[in-house]
Amino acid sequence: MMTREEEPPGRTGFPASPARIAILGAGICGLMTALALPEHGTHLTLIDKGRSVGGRMATRRMGDGWADHGAQFFTVRTTEFADYVEEWRLNGWIFEWATHWSDGSIDIHKPAGYTRFAAYGGMNALAGHIADEVREAGAHIYTGQRITALSVEAGQWRLATEQGKHFTCDILVATPPVPQTLALLETNGLHLDPESENALRAVTYAPCLCLLLRLDTPPDLPHPGARQTPDGIVTWVADNHRKGISPHAHIVTVHANPDFSAQHYQMDDDAIVARLLPELTTVLGKATVQAIEVKRWRYALPTQLHPQRFLFTNTPAPIYFGGDAFGGPRVEGAALSGLAIAAHLRQSLRHDQNRTVGEA
Ligand SMILES: Cc1cc2nc3c(=O)[nH]c(=O)nc-3n(C[C@H](O)[C@H](O)[C@H](O)COP(=O)(O)OP(=O)(O)OC[C@H]3O[C@@H](n4cnc5c(N)ncnc54)[C@H](O)[C@@H]3O)c2cc1C
Repeated sequence: MMTREEEPPGRTGFPASPARIAILGAGICGLMTALALPEHGTHLTLIDKGRSVGGRMATRRMGDGWADHGAQFFTVRTTEFADYVEEWRLNGWIFEWATHWSDGSIDIHKPAGYTRFAAYGGMNALAGHIADEVREAGAHIYTGQRITALSVEAGQWRLATEQGKHFTCDILVATPPVPQTLALLETNGLHLDPESENALRAVTYAPCLCLLLRLDTPPDLPHPGARQTPDGIVTWVADNHRKGISPHAHIVTVHANPDFSAQHYQMDDDAIVARLLPELTTVLGKATVQAIEVKRWRYALPTQLHPQRFLFTNTPAPIYFGGDAFGGPRVEGAALSGLAIAAHLRQSLRHDQNRTVGEA
């Protein structure tokens, strides 16, 4: 038994166990949840609206070049995550990019911090490798499918996508940014218990405006091709060519700070570019900008986190909430949230063969 695609709404009579689990979102949280449930393989379905998996681990093509435009790198601060990362390193999927960043000042000899890992082919490629492992364990991954309709019938979740697919499951794992999942539930007239609802409403995120610039010559950036200035309007600039993921073109990723991003989020692309380009004068030097793209991340990073690595409730039907707002505002945090959901699922399902999970 598995979370079936195109199950007509209203159908009942699934075998009693094992539970069918649908994971909403195939970002790193959803992928790690699935990866840590190999024994549950064929009963798992991941559904994502993106053209590919990865969510905010996003890599974009620009002409003959490539750019990471969401997460730029990841760090490893826990042994739980380190075990997976070591395997990815041995597989040749990731590399050590840096141990600290320069802010562009002369004194770049800061003490080394956490190793910053990047992925060969871009961050999205790492998500793709993990997705392949998840598929090999039997799980189904659907991309290009935006869940717009949710309902609960006889204790089971019914999901429908804008593109016309239908899914049924016993347990839902929701990994999109929390306001998006809450809006989805609300639009469909579904209500959580008040305690969970209040806890989730407290979670907040900051936006990020991102520019991708294609240059004819290299930008002026300190080793290893990136500059981090947390107090500036532009907090991050990186040359994806020097990073190694854009061999044929200098594509530069630029991130604006959260306040600037919030204030200018609704402006049109030209106005955002006109405001940000003057901040890049020294980085651009004599280079000519050949093309520019603007990307808006409405929920870039969580600013008010939930105190636990996930939230589980049985109302209106079994649902987990996970993601970086639960495990920490970074790739590792989202991964840890996914691992915690998987551990809880495994434990709960062992104790209950009746397709529901116990209270968290
Ligand atoms: C600009 C930027 C820079 C960052 N830089 C770094 C960095 O350098 N290092 C670092 O560690 N972290 C960084 N982060 C944060 C990191 O990217 C996130 O913490 C992490 O990727 C979040 O993973 P997630 O699985 O929780 O969420 P997401 O990656 O957002 O995954 C959620 C998924 O849900 C899908 N989804 C949403 N709604 C629906 C729907 N209705 N139907 C179907 N699918 C849906 C989305 O398509 C998405 O794939 C950055 C983030 C941004 C935006």
